[in-house]
Amino acid sequence: MNNDDMLRKIVMDHYKYPHNKLDDGVELENFIYEHGNNPSCGDDVEIYVSIDEDVIKEIYYKGTGCSICCASASILTEEIKGLTMKEAEDKIINFEKMLTAQEYDENIFEDAIVFSGIKDFPARFKCASISWITLQSILKGVRDEG
Ligand code: ZN
Repeated sequence: MNNDDMLRKIVMDHYKYPHNKLDDGVELENFIYEHGNNPSCGDDVEIYVSIDEDVIKEIYYKGTGCSICCASASILTEEIKGLTMKEAEDKIINFEKMLTAQEYDENIFEDAIVFSGIKDFPARFKCASISWITLQSILKGVRDEG
């Protein structure tokens, strides 16, 4: 399989069978959540996290949007769960670098590596990154609160 086929297959798997996705109407208590959207494509996500002692214990998302956005949110939850805040923040920064053709640490990624192909499609940057940027904003908020 070449990279494009791989991208398509993994994206479609996560789009059809999302991981850690909450149904509309499900509310979680004691989770921090934030909403992110990408009007240019109609992508709309909510990220929910529970942090205990600096570790991201649980992470879920709700959302609608294109296959890239939904698959990226699903992959995000898989790749972030269990990390410390610092590890999560590093991973998000590397993910953004990967999408924008900058040097990044490819060894830290699992399925998320398929989005390396997005660098050739800058119009889809927001689709692939919206859930990650929303999580980044949550983590920044937690840090700012001290
Ligand atoms: Zn999109």
